[in-house]
Amino acid sequence: MHHDSPKEKHTTLVVIGGGAAGFFCAVNAARMNPLLKVIIAEKSSKVLSKVKVSGGGRCNVTHACFEISELVKRYPRGQNFLKKSFHWFNTKDTIQWFEERGVKLKAEEDGRMFPVTDNSQTIIDCLIKEANKYGVEILFNTEIKSVKRINNLFQLDTTNHKLQAANFLCIASGGYPKSSQFDWIKNLDHVIEEPIPSLFTFNIPHNNITSLMGVSVEKATIKIQSTKLSETGPVLITHWGLSGPAVLRLSAWGARELNVLNYHFSISVNWLPPFNENTLRDKWFSLRKQFASQKINNKNPFGLPQRLWLYFLNECSIDENIRWADLTSSLQNKLIKTLTAQAFHIKGKTTFKEEFVTCGGVKLSEIDANTMQSKIVPNLFFAGEIMDVDGITGGFNFQHAWTSGWIAAKNISVI
Ligand SMILES: Cc1cc2nc3c(=O)[nH]c(=O)nc-3n(C[C@H](O)[C@H](O)[C@H](O)COP(=O)(O)OP(=O)(O)OC[C@H]3O[C@@H](n4cnc5c(N)ncnc54)[C@H](O)[C@@H]3O)c2cc1C
Repeated sequence: MHHDSPKEKHTTLVVIGGGAAGFFCAVNAARMNPLLKVIIAEKSSKVLSKVKVSGGGRCNVTHACFEISELVKRYPRGQNFLKKSFHWFNTKDTIQWFEERGVKLKAEEDGRMFPVTDNSQTIIDCLIKEANKYGVEILFNTEIKSVKRINNLFQLDTTNHKLQAANFLCIASGGYPKSSQFDWIKNLDHVIEEPIPSLFTFNIPHNNITSLMGVSVEKATIKIQSTKLSETGPVLITHWGLSGPAVLRLSAWGARELNVLNYHFSISVNWLPPFNENTLRDKWFSLRKQFASQKINNKNPFGLPQRLWLYFLNECSIDENIRWADLTSSLQNKLIKTLTAQAFHIKGKTTFKEEFVTCGGVKLSEIDANTMQSKIVPNLFFAGEIMDVDGITGGFNFQHAWTSGWIAAKNISVI
């Protein structure tokens, strides 16, 4: 009778994509089940390239948000799904996982977490070391072109024919901006939510405000008319229109709605929250008394950038040299209205390439959130941005990559 050596690996897991999610699945699966032969197929000549450039070269690994109910609110798409998956592996587990492997993370004031080295290479070195330790094989320049399931095996068609078959497959190929790039996954009978941009800035063509490019305010509230979308946060005026965290968050939450509107919509900007038109009018009374004899252009009482203040005066046709006491009530009303509810018409978007994340991907109702296994094809798993999950900026996208990669690994390793 033939006895296999205990080290012989019968079962193969092929992970498609050598990004954050693919690595996390591969290294954890190889560690959890030493009998599993784990191969990463990466189409390019590099792995972890987004980790390298992420967070300005520092890698914003996760976010110091430790309540699952709060954490899920940072994901415009995937909240209900993530409520289940974060139960298995969340931000605390990420911090611990890296710490157990000698990589300490620190939180910045806004909650974003980075390696204490402030260098994304630390994360890459840790993942590569882990892959070497558990014998994960990495095949470069190996693009998966198509997958067929024949006799309980996945038959793989790759660009370089280095790979043929796998017992388990984890698709961790990241987001694709074009629908046609998902064809090989659609052929596995999975439905794909149309990919559309999720992080972009708002264009306001031919508007005076763009002459203030480079000016920013710490806190403004932008509301998108005829929707429930509203965000408060830093706003930056650019050559094309408006940008900054508040705009990017709106673009993420409104990705689908704004796409349907073909990126033509109206917004209202309150430059002075928490004031609203009425409370600012009340306040105005005392300001007017306080600054009565001062020129309005010299006295900008709200800490707004001076160029912006002058722009508002100009927009309201207010003579810059007028004294506070001499402002007519109709001009005063106009200024208050502009400061608290300035209307703009947005025509088009500019894609924010720096932190581009695709919205869309494999439909979540076809994936089991507790295992990451396909509900359609047995032994097929998904991890990372290929799924229809996306987070706002701040480390949430990587957290989803770690969570889904780990859950897939755990469930593959026990089969
Ligand atoms: C510039 C930039 C900065 C970012 N900064 C942050 C940040 O600081 N924090 C944060 O949370 N998120 C950040 N993000 C988002 C984050 O990088 C992604 O959400 C995350 O990388 C997704 O991981 P992934 O493993 O799913 O996909 P990816 O990292 O995109 O990896 C997928 C891999 O699969 C390969 N691949 C694709 N198709 C195939 C195929 N058919 N066959 C074989 N291989 C294939 C690709 O070449 C790639 O290497 C940033 C994104 C960008 C672009």
